Amino acid sequence: MIKTDVLIIGAGAVGSAIAREFSKYNVSVLVVDKNEDIGGDASKSNSAIIHTGYDATPDTLESQLVVAANPMYEKLCKDLDVPYKKVGAILPAFTDEQFEKLPSIKEKAFKNRVYDVEYLSKEELLKMEPNLNPEVKGGLYIPRENIIDPFVYVQALCENAYANGVKFMLNTKVTDIIVNNGKIEKVITTAGEIEANYVVNSAGLYCDEIAEMVGKADYKVVARKGQFYILDKNTSCKVNHIVLPIPTKITKGKLMCPTVHGNMLVGPTAEDQLSKTDKSTTTAGLDSIATDVRNLIPNVNLRETITQYSGLRPNRNPEGLHFDIFDDIKGYVNLSGVRSTGLTLSIAMGKYVVQQLLMRGANFKLKDDFIKTRKGIIKFSEQTSEVKEELLKQNPLYGNVICRCETVTEAEILQAIHRPLGAKSVDAVKRRVRAGMGRCQGGFCGPKVIEILARELGVSTDKINKHQDGSYMVVGKTRD
Ligand SMILES: Cc1cc2nc3c(=O)[nH]c(=O)nc-3n(C[C@H](O)[C@H](O)[C@H](O)COP(=O)(O)OP(=O)(O)OC[C@H]3O[C@@H](n4cnc5c(N)ncnc54)[C@H](O)[C@@H]3O)c2cc1C
Repeated sequence: MIKTDVLIIGAGAVGSAIAREFSKYNVSVLVVDKNEDIGGDASKSNSAIIHTGYDATPDTLESQLVVAANPMYEKLCKDLDVPYKKVGAILPAFTDEQFEKLPSIKEKAFKNRVYDVEYLSKEELLKMEPNLNPEVKGGLYIPRENIIDPFVYVQALCENAYANGVKFMLNTKVTDIIVNNGKIEKVITTAGEIEANYVVNSAGLYCDEIAEMVGKADYKVVARKGQFYILDKNTSCKVNHIVLPIPTKITKGKLMCPTVHGNMLVGPTAEDQLSKTDKSTTTAGLDSIATDVRNLIPNVNLRETITQYSGLRPNRNPEGLHFDIFDDIKGYVNLSGVRSTGLTLSIAMGKYVVQQLLMRGANFKLKDDFIKTRKGIIKFSEQTSEVKEELLKQNPLYGNVICRCETVTEAEILQAIHRPLGAKSVDAVKRRVRAGMGRCQGGFCGPKVIEILARELGVSTDKINKHQDGSYMVVGKTRD
């Protein structure tokens, strides 16, 4: 039996942020995840926006946490070496009906204490975004809606938590939880049984299944699919800000925005579905994005798409973000409804969970040797000539470019594999150093990445997966 003070189920943005927060205290922490890599499910397939909470429902836990989280990112991303860009968002109105909604949106922002939302004239909007539909009548500016690298964000949280003593068990699925005398007796996983004083359910899409294991499933999670296009960095029609449509009750709508790496992101859809695993993109979904986004940016060039993907939002029914603890199951924390703003609110949720437990009498003592910062993998192509020369002297593998589109060197890929919680699959390498994220989508570097992974992990190439067990890339040799 494995023993730990705190067990966190799920290594997505939320579980990882909670783990990092706990790692400031003198408690043993274990994170388990059914996936082969840290990074979560929804957390690696979203719009990558750090929201302000301007449009959240006022006086809800979600608005409280998003509004609190937004100002934390600038320092956090510096401390943890995470790519983060301040771009701001615009919300243009094209019809009289949309224009008339602007005051109520500003009022809602005000109720959420997002006071820096301002009106923009047609001229100001077209100056800020020359590719905007010239039919625009006016709009709003939301200056603190910013963008982040969502993969590196979660990796950084996990690596920093790990450096502070948190343990991780990947490929480990929680299959049952035994409750006895108002307390969790043990958590049963595919990798053995775990005894913990505190169990945090941050299992995203599957949080209802975990809640069911302890008899607290008074809700269901329905997957709400969001499909996207990613456009080439050199696309002819770009935007400088996050260009948002006027939101509806169901969704924030389909937007266009830059990514921190200079691509353009277009989407997402919002489609409820029964399957929690179907992440296919569909013609209907992608066509609906094309139609809607052309209302915002008429010349968007979707022919310059380099890939399409979809993510599944954990949509709670009944809706709403919930933090639940129960008198009859001591130490169990249930998080649910982390739907469309979970990337943003994750860092505040980490603090909220730990503080709530402290206020209820938990005896966590702050460590005096908490390591606050983490250094990421150096991106060779972004260094000055002097730094590049120095790096090449230290490691000649910086001279071997494996991914030509994103200029990723072998030295960077080796770090992605050999860092703590390192990459074991092709996609895990891609999420760490961007090999395969460029316009050829791994067509050129894919086989080389497989070979490097096989060599470094000491296995044959047919054992290297795309992302999880069974998603093999090589079936065998055609010749000796
Ligand atoms: C299309 C789309 C766009 C979005 N855009 C934004 C945005 O711009 N900004 C923003 O702030 N948010 C956005 N979100 C929301 C955000 O991505 C999610 O709210 C957030 O990632 C949820 O994080 P999580 O850690 O709760 O869940 P996840 O990332 O899903 O992680 C849950 C983890 O739990 C693990 N798990 C589940 N069951 C078990 C089990 N039985 N045993 C072990 N492990 C288990 C899973 O493997 C997974 O790794 C978007 C979401 C989508 C889908």
